[in-house]
Parts: sequence; C-alpha cells; structure tokens
Amino acid sequence: MAKQWDHFIQGAFVAPAGGEYLQEYKPMTGGLGEEIARGSAADVDAAVTSSHAAIRPWKEKKQIERGRILMAIARDIRANAAEFAVQEADETGKPLKVATFEVELCAQYFEYYGGLATSIHGEQIDLGPNYHCYTSRDPFGVIGVILPWNAPMNQAGRAIAPALAAGNTVVVKPSEFTSISLLQMAQMCVEKSGLPEGVFNVVTGNGKEAGEALVLHPLIRKVAFTGSVRAGREIGKLAGDRILPLTLELGGKSPNIIFEDADLDKAVQGSLMAFTINGGQVCLAGTRALVHTSIFDEFAERITAAAGNIKVSDGVEFGLGPMTTKAQYEQVARYYQVAKEDGATALVGGEMPETDGGWYVAPTIYKDVSNDMRIAREEVFGPVLVLIPFTDEDEAIAIANDTDYGLAAGLWTRDISRAHRVSAQIEAGQVYVNEYPSGGVETPFGGFKKSGYGRETVSYTHLRAHET
Ligand code: NAD
Repeated sequence: MAKQWDHFIQGAFVAPAGGEYLQEYKPMTGGLGEEIARGSAADVDAAVTSSHAAIRPWKEKKQIERGRILMAIARDIRANAAEFAVQEADETGKPLKVATFEVELCAQYFEYYGGLATSIHGEQIDLGPNYHCYTSRDPFGVIGVILPWNAPMNQAGRAIAPALAAGNTVVVKPSEFTSISLLQMAQMCVEKSGLPEGVFNVVTGNGKEAGEALVLHPLIRKVAFTGSVRAGREIGKLAGDRILPLTLELGGKSPNIIFEDADLDKAVQGSLMAFTINGGQVCLAGTRALVHTSIFDEFAERITAAAGNIKVSDGVEFGLGPMTTKAQYEQVARYYQVAKEDGATALVGGEMPETDGGWYVAPTIYKDVSNDMRIAREEVFGPVLVLIPFTDEDEAIAIANDTDYGLAAGLWTRDISRAHRVSAQIEAGQVYVNEYPSGGVETPFGGFKKSGYGRETVSYTHLRAHET
C-alpha cells in the first residue's frame, strides 16, 4: 500500500479530519506515487489556530534570534539537499540536477532573509519640539501561502522565508500534485533547525477545499498566492470580500528580444534555455522570441538545430523532463493543435513523442506566427516557443508589450544604451539583458497586468539585470 502523508501541524503529523487521502503520481512514468491528506476546513482551522497561537512568542523573539533560526534552516536544507532533491525530482519529474539547483535556491532564501531579519526598522519622523514620533514595521500575523507544482521548494522558500523573518507565522497549502517535499521541510524545520512548533504548518489538499478554506479563515491576515490566473482571480474575489491583503504571482507570456547586434551564439543558447528550462513549466519562461528581420532566418535555423539536440531527461542530468501533471501534458498537446489550426509552422516538435508512459513532450518552435495568434498570447506552460520578426526598436517594444501579461522579458544586444532604453519601456517585473533568466534571491519578483500584483523577495518595484 502507498505511503500516506498527513498534514504537519504544531510540530507533528496529523491525520485529516475527513480521513481521506489524495493520490500523487510520478511524471517520469505516469505511475502512482504516494498519497497525501485531503485537507478540509476543519484541518485548515486546526493549522491556523496553531499558527495564530505561535505568533506572539515568534514575533517577540529578538530579530537576531529569528535570523539565526532561518540560517539554521538554510544549513539543514543544505545538509539534506540530496534527499530533498530526490523527492522533488520524483514528484515533479524534473531532472535531479535541476531539482538540486532549486533546493539550493530554497536554502539561499532562508540564508538571505535570515541575514536581513535584523535590518527591519521603522523610522523616526521629526514633528518639532515636544514630539516623539516613529513608525514600526509590524508582522501581519498568520499568512496563508498557496503554492503551485512547478518548483515546490524554491517557491516555498521565496514566500516563507521573508514572512518568517518579519515575525509572521505561516500555514502553507502546497500543490496537491507535489506536497511531500514541503511536509518533509516543515518537519525538518521543527525537529532539526529549532523553529518553534506552529510557526510553519502545512495543510495538504486541493484548491477548492483546503485552498479556499485557508483564504476564508478569519485568523488569516494575508495570502501569498503563486499559481494560475484562473485561481488567482477566484482567490482575489474571496480576498476582496474579506479586505484581505494579497500577493498574486501568476502566469506569463514573456518576450525575449534578439536585436541585430546581439552576440548570436549567446542569444541562441540563452533563448533556448529561456523556453526549455524545467520543461517550459516556468512562469517567467521566455516563450515569444522577437527577432530582427535581418537575422531572423539564421536565428531560426540555429535555435531549431539546438532545440532538436536537447536530450530528453535521463532523470539525472540537465535536460528536458516530463510535464509534471497529466493535465499539463494534455494542455501542451492541445496547443500543438491550436497552433496548427491558426497556421503556424512547426520548425521542430509540434507532435507528441512516443513515450513509455512518462508525460514527455518535445521542444517545439513555431514560425509564421503573428502576435495576435493564440499560440503567441496564451500561456502554454510547456517547452513551446514562437518566433516573431520585427523591423525596428519601436516595433519590438510594441510587440513585447502587446500581451495580457508582464512578468519577465529578455533582450540581447551589444549596445548598452539600447539595453537601458528598451528595458525602461518594457512592462514587465524583471527585464534580463544578455542572459535569461537573471537575478537571484536578492532580487524583487512579481508582475504587471495579469501576471499579478505585489512583489515577493525585496520590495523594490522593477528589476533590470544584465550580464556585461
Ligand atoms: P493553480 O492555480 O491550478 O494551482 C496553484 C495552487 O492554488 C495549488 O495549490 C491549488 O491547489 C491552489 N488553488 C487552485 N484553485 C484554488 C482556489 N480556488 N482557491 C484556493 N486555492 C486554489 O496553478 P498550477 O497549475 O499549480 O501552476 C501553474 C501556474 O502557476 C501557471 O500559470 C504559472 O505561470 C503559475 N506560476 C506563477 C509563478 C510566479 O511566481 N508568478 C511561479 C510559478 C508558477
């Protein structure tokens, strides 16, 4: 019988009130995985009540002590990185090297915010003689964190570490497809790293039951959501009714502009990485390559050849892993059909490959695409790239911004003035120059338009990073 995982509440595994479990799957084979507790409103209530009781002692800890515990979490994630990476790879299908990289990023979030914990200050405001006026930065209280399946520990670190550093406690609802690494991490935090019980609770289950119950719980003071526009909209309506602060990290259809003066070797390799990393199941993936007409044919030929050489993951090395869910696998197949019906030409891919049961798809590149076609406007969330020509800078910027989304963008040029001029006009939370993606745990993340609102990690509004 498959192992059954319970919720992690108040430092212990707790069986679901309803006694039911959900099935996880193994994307590399399509076979059955382990089972996770099917969370209900009663389970969410137990978790939130526990996290609420944990607020006061946690927020009243000296900042340096909170920081030290976050640093200990980073240390322990690293000490257990091999086991975490195997678990992430098993649940998501990502190659072990990719999983290892993301587990390290998770450790870095705790390390970075552990360091920042002592730098959370208010300010003094001078109102003249006989006044003493100051501001303080106070935690919200219990934050509900709702996560997707594409990079479970990485996204968890991004949302949880800053919340804990600032004195909040969290109840996390991971994706029902990839919950186990989070349960293991929460257990490690309490049992090894010294995080007090209740500060980081995990309730598993699906969105409609456990997710909505978390948003609706009266003791939740903020929600940090990462996922689809559809779910973001539903959560936004619930949060609006409750006047609940909300961070929405949603999808993207990010432009990646290749100018005629780009270093073409680097642009081809970087643009390939931009749409195939993690099988294209990345919110910031560069899935619209806008290419200057003078280099269009050469770029198309070279990136097509490079994509054709990508090896399907052996489960270990960097390479193209399977789609994490069956629904995602079927969605990619649907978009192959949409592209065909709309008249796009597949230079490579565009057909579902034979598999032994794993949810593998082929890297796919389309030309004969205009920016108003569905394949250029809708997020596929798979390794699918469209090539769109442009003739000058203004046209490139216009096409780049002609999208419902605004999460990330890339541009390739040797002209540093152009790099700054163009990136300043692009409506996206992050703009990368001569590298895709760029930045790190230190950089702000979040979108414009339907990519969401609010920023995770540090609180500046817009990143422009470039490799020199
Ligand atoms: P999803 O929206 O289906 O699910 C995300 C999470 O929300 C899951 O835990 C799910 O159970 C929960 N959920 C679903 N409906 C809910 C509801 N009504 N109320 C409360 N919770 C609900 O997304 P997914 O398929 O897991 O992830 C893919 C999407 O996530 C893509 O659109 C991708 O672009 C986006 N994403 C965004 C970022 C970012 O940082 N901007 C990062 C990764 C993924």
